[in-house]
Amino acid sequence: MKTVAIIGCGAAGSAAAITLGRASADFTVTVYERLAKPLKKLLATGNGRCNLTNERLSRSDYFGDTAFAESALRRYPPQSTVDFFASMGLLCKTEAEGRVYPISGQASSVRETLLAEMQRLGIAIETGREITEVQPQKDGFLLNGQYFADFLVLCAGGSAAPQHGTDGGAFRLLRQLGHTVVSPAPALTALVASRFPKSLKGVRCVCRAALVCKGKELYNMGGEVQFTEYGLSGIPIMQLSRLVSVAPQEHFTVKLDCLPQMPEAQLQSFLLETKKSAPQKTAGTLAQGILPKALGDALLLSCGIHRDEPCGKLTEVQIARFVGTVKCYTVEIDRPRGFDFAQVTAGGADVSEFDPVTMQSKKWPHLYVCGETLNIDGGCGGYNLQWAWSSGRAAGEAIAKEYAD
Ligand SMILES: Cc1cc2nc3c(=O)[nH]c(=O)nc-3n(C[C@H](O)[C@H](O)[C@H](O)COP(=O)(O)OP(=O)(O)OC[C@H]3O[C@@H](n4cnc5c(N)ncnc54)[C@H](O)[C@@H]3O)c2cc1C
Repeated sequence: MKTVAIIGCGAAGSAAAITLGRASADFTVTVYERLAKPLKKLLATGNGRCNLTNERLSRSDYFGDTAFAESALRRYPPQSTVDFFASMGLLCKTEAEGRVYPISGQASSVRETLLAEMQRLGIAIETGREITEVQPQKDGFLLNGQYFADFLVLCAGGSAAPQHGTDGGAFRLLRQLGHTVVSPAPALTALVASRFPKSLKGVRCVCRAALVCKGKELYNMGGEVQFTEYGLSGIPIMQLSRLVSVAPQEHFTVKLDCLPQMPEAQLQSFLLETKKSAPQKTAGTLAQGILPKALGDALLLSCGIHRDEPCGKLTEVQIARFVGTVKCYTVEIDRPRGFDFAQVTAGGADVSEFDPVTMQSKKWPHLYVCGETLNIDGGCGGYNLQWAWSSGRAAGEAIAKEYAD
């Protein structure tokens, strides 16, 4: 019997353990988890519904060393994830934009399914057991000076969301082992912006958000933007945040098209028409016809227009200025919110030191690294969990194969 230690009972760790346990009965598998509750983070995913993969996955949904991810994602694509869960008795459903969720609508179903399968396979989960030291031995690894394993799978996540167990411990272990870690930075997080009207707090508006640096648009995405007490949030903002995080020295602005469904010229004619037909209407009411009230008032004010002004008195130039602001409202960004608020880590283990098919270290045979610990991260939509399942399963399969050979 060979022993396998898995550090971290998260998505990748459970996928690796199950794949290995199903492939071969020749291993004793122990998963070491620092929290009292295994797979705790999974409960928070997808707003408690667990967006576990995405049917429309493509390479452009990933960042970091995306070429490395291709092999595992090709061998274990989203349909294979759906089949993997079906084989454990969990059905999935597909929602907008290809997002896949458990049919129960509850992340707890995914967690229970994985735990039940690990139990069925006789995989031991040692909870409350943080691994802080790994010493390579002649034919294996010694963990915390007391647990020996022939094979080691490190899938202890990244630095994002430390409240769910991931405090960067994986990177400390990697450095102990002489591996290179690409600077970790928070991704899929909100953006802090102190210089916009506080009256906007609580406003939600479907916008197109564009990230601009040195006058150049770097990325844009549509969706609901949330104005909060600290700045901007919502899926499009979280998608932009990675670019801000990895270049902390740069100055960024977010340009919001607050009415993306209507071209500028059409909006201008619409407002001029409304002004003509109801000149007694206030500017505030005019704005409320197209935007949430607080946002309309703030944009009017930034154009020097008081909300109580009758719109019949507004000049064409004033209306054009207002239209320009609606179509391009600029928010100066201070910084991204930190790891406590991020969903994923940009950066991590330098993948040039690992094999993309097996996830095995090129420095230490029998050491495998998968999931968020590697320098690969995905956008919102199920891509990060998909990477965890694919890379975890690739490592589990590789260990079973290597021993069989
Ligand atoms: C709020 C939130 C919502 C999210 N929603 C989604 C979503 O809907 N879809 C999606 O695709 N992605 C989502 N993500 C991202 C996704 O959850 C992660 O990318 C994914 O869980 C990473 O899997 P992993 O196995 O690599 O690491 P994790 O799932 O983070 O697991 C790592 C485990 O290792 C343990 N650990 C850490 N250090 C040690 C140590 N030294 N010793 C022992 N154990 C250790 C941790 O406690 C943890 O249980 C979300 C993340 C957050 C925070």
